[in-house]
Amino acid sequence: MRQRDLGQTGLKVSVLGFGASPLGGEFGAIDESEGIRSVHRAIDLGINFFDTAPFYGRTRSETVLGQALEGRRHEVVLATKVGRYGKTEFDFSPKTIIAGLEASLNRLKTDHVDVIYVHDIEFGDLALILNETIPALMKAKAQGKIGAVGVSGLPLAILQEAVLGADLDLILSYCHYHLADQSLMDNLAPLVRSKGMGLINAAPLAMGLLTQPGPPAWHPAPDAMKQACREAAEYCTQQGFDLADVALDFATRLDSVDSTVVGMSTVVEVDRNVAAIGISVDPMILVAIEEILAPVRGMTWSSGKAS
Ligand code: NAD
Repeated sequence: MRQRDLGQTGLKVSVLGFGASPLGGEFGAIDESEGIRSVHRAIDLGINFFDTAPFYGRTRSETVLGQALEGRRHEVVLATKVGRYGKTEFDFSPKTIIAGLEASLNRLKTDHVDVIYVHDIEFGDLALILNETIPALMKAKAQGKIGAVGVSGLPLAILQEAVLGADLDLILSYCHYHLADQSLMDNLAPLVRSKGMGLINAAPLAMGLLTQPGPPAWHPAPDAMKQACREAAEYCTQQGFDLADVALDFATRLDSVDSTVVGMSTVVEVDRNVAAIGISVDPMILVAIEEILAPVRGMTWSSGKAS
């Protein structure tokens, strides 16, 4: 598994990262023992970058990941988040996020996290986040509890505002670089790179849209996008391919991001996704998928206060 520098943090992360929101049951029921095995399998296959949040399964993801990493914490670059605690529960005040960080460290059974993101900043007051939340996290960084500080969110414009407004270590963008949307590359990626920050592309399967079983019921994409992705999945099945393999290979070919983080909770998914990196897909198949997805290219959905 190749690794890349995570911006200028001095950390090195695997090109494929392990997204732990499925470990919290966000995509359906999970078997925790199998989830723990999937974490071990991922480490054994060279994945060293793990992403969780207190929001995922309302702390369950962190708890399961913390159990899985007992004795193996030193082998991984561990990222979690602060500020989002429920579907509509956000609190970006310094007092809450520092208390939240301590609670996360406890669940993750560690004395520090390598990366912390302010979670889904489009739901907060950006001035508060830039002037109070991030400085409080920088202080925790100086105390050694955090290795790097970043923000995450869906709307690319607000991530750009954060890049321009704070001296961040990295940015996590999701659902904006995959087979049906590459808008991450328009403005945000060049800006982040010009500042020397790290860049993470999360959700290369568009939160399940680009899989054979399809997305969970809560998926916020417009129906047209769901339908086009379903057609792409059916087309791949007819051609003897799995759309998820094609999507994973497509996303991990991007060198402008430091890691592509995919959600997983089973050993089969880990094996499958690691094997998908670098598969050779017939260019004609890629062209056909592109044509199916063309009508919904760049389609997104609203997230946060301003949208
Ligand atoms: P994703 O695009 O990675 O898709 C995950 C879904 O695909 C899950 O249902 C998973 O079981 C399934 N899957 C994985 N491999 C598969 C395969 N080979 N075949 C079929 N299905 C497969 O979406 P995600 O999990 O939401 O995103 C990845 C990670 O990025 C998250 O787990 C989380 O850690 C992070 N993330 C962060 C934010 C944020 O900070 N706001 C938002 C989204 C994601």
